[in-house]
Amino acid sequence: MTLFTTKIGIDLGTANTLVYVPSRGVVANEPSVVAISVTENNVIAVGNEAKEMLGRTPDQIVASRPLRDGAIADYRITEAMLRYFIAKAVRRFQIVRPSVLISVPTGVTSTERRAVIDAALKAGARRAYVAKEPILAALGAGVPIHDSRGNMIVDIGGGTTEIAILSLGGLVSAHSARVGGDRFDQAIIDHIKREHSFAIGERTAEDIKKKIGSAVLLAKEETMDVRGRDLTGGLPRTVTITSTEITEALQDDLREVINAIRKVLQTTPPELAADIMDKGMILSGGGALLRNLDRLIAKTIGVPCYIADDAKRCVVKGTQSILENLDVYRRSLLMHK
Ligand code: ADP
Ligand code: MG
Repeated sequence: MTLFTTKIGIDLGTANTLVYVPSRGVVANEPSVVAISVTENNVIAVGNEAKEMLGRTPDQIVASRPLRDGAIADYRITEAMLRYFIAKAVRRFQIVRPSVLISVPTGVTSTERRAVIDAALKAGARRAYVAKEPILAALGAGVPIHDSRGNMIVDIGGGTTEIAILSLGGLVSAHSARVGGDRFDQAIIDHIKREHSFAIGERTAEDIKKKIGSAVLLAKEETMDVRGRDLTGGLPRTVTITSTEITEALQDDLREVINAIRKVLQTTPPELAADIMDKGMILSGGGALLRNLDRLIAKTIGVPCYIADDAKRCVVKGTQSILENLDVYRRSLLMHK
């Protein structure tokens, strides 16, 4: 074990940021949220502490998710977030600044990519690299990406779904769809508002999704009591929500995920598509844990579907092999500065 952390891998997700240090493993796993004081114009909190403030902050404090839709919304906030997470990985009194590898969605523009690199350098990195999220997700899921046969990975995050077909270590085709777990939560909020005249917050919606959500109707319906605000009387109240209505509320967004997967398959060269028909696709990311989503995709598309082990950590685990072989990957995968 080395005395100092010289390499750090960061999964800069739209919902969660994870930090990996070789020989120490995952050292941080917190929401990608930054709280800012409007009056002072400075950063008050990042990560867990900032998420606690979402939806219940006084007017002078705004809690925001800088990457919400898969694009870098605010450069300064991204820098503050990276500074916080890099500080979690390095030890106190460390003199050698670390090399940092950051995953970004495939949809980010080259300008945004450069912004992430600049932000990491300003946040204390000696060198900064970015890698495309699906490549890291595939590496972390144990997919043999250097194989000449085609492999497919679908990473369903909070803001985006990254779909990619890989062969010989590179992306053959890829698409970043702006649909994911956040949209599922929003669909639940909208449904409950419409059908029950009842207002719930984002965190309650996420809870409902994780507890009774399912992509296909459950054989045995489940229910959950939910607290919120009655929109007719304006007072707090409790309603009982069923898994059946949640499954129905999610269908439009699930169809969007499935259509995006289908589109990528349709633009894949026939031999690689045949490989994927054989081997199936791998699902990663937190959104892949929605109950029965794998079954729905497999049934609708007709391609076998497997959820990766430790699905939420695939991307950050994927930084490991690249960090260990930076010299090999430096030219091919990453933009370097
Ligand atoms: P990102 O990479 O965009 O930061 P993550 O891979 O961390 O996103 O996934 C976050 C999303 O996964 C959130 O929308 C969260 O609600 C969802 N999620 C996490 N666990 C579950 C679960 N058990 N069931 C359904 N959705 C889940
Ligand atoms: Mg992710």
